[in-house]
Amino acid sequence: MANFWAKTPNWIKPFFSKKFVWNINNNKELSVYFTFDDGPHPQATPFVLEQLDKYDAKATFFCVGNNVVKYPYVYQQVLDRGHSVGNHTYNHLNGWKTDTEKYLQNIAQAQEYINSNLFRPPYGKINREQLKSMNNATPPWHICMWDVLSFDFDRKLSPEKCLENVIKNIQPGSIILFHDSTKAWDRMSYALPLALEFCKSKDWKMKKIEL
Ligand SMILES: [Zn+2]
Repeated sequence: MANFWAKTPNWIKPFFSKKFVWNINNNKELSVYFTFDDGPHPQATPFVLEQLDKYDAKATFFCVGNNVVKYPYVYQQVLDRGHSVGNHTYNHLNGWKTDTEKYLQNIAQAQEYINSNLFRPPYGKINREQLKSMNNATPPWHICMWDVLSFDFDRKLSPEKCLENVIKNIQPGSIILFHDSTKAWDRMSYALPLALEFCKSKDWKMKKIEL
């Protein structure tokens, strides 16, 4: 399952709703869920943490195991500031190009460093067999996709357009995908503070994913 829409269309969600988490609806309050993939990163992650603190926001970081090993002090900061973390494999593997045994082993390797029941497949690509294994695991994984894609990883996109992708599509319950990475830096560092400001102006709570 891969998708490259800035807004995941509602018609697609029911087909996968039992297997994937696309958004989180909480009737009691209006909340949105910022997520950051591919870190920890020595420059991008501390920047993100600082922005989140400014807006009293909590978020979820889908970490690459190998980066946790490289930057344990950055990873520790994410935990110390009360955010949640998820598994994003050890080597950022593409599920469509990796056999299931190797894929699951790589996730288990990341799990040695990342204590979480949340998983996000790199590139949004996971095959049916891999998904089934993860849904049947004890305890089962929560496979977290997203509702709003910022496209911050797309170097051809302007920072302004990246912000527009978020602002136009975000709504209460949305899971928003950004990246704390070198590749996404120019767009993420511009769009994130303004996206947080936008949510604050709407009086939406910015929360971490806990399932
Ligand atoms: Zn990724």
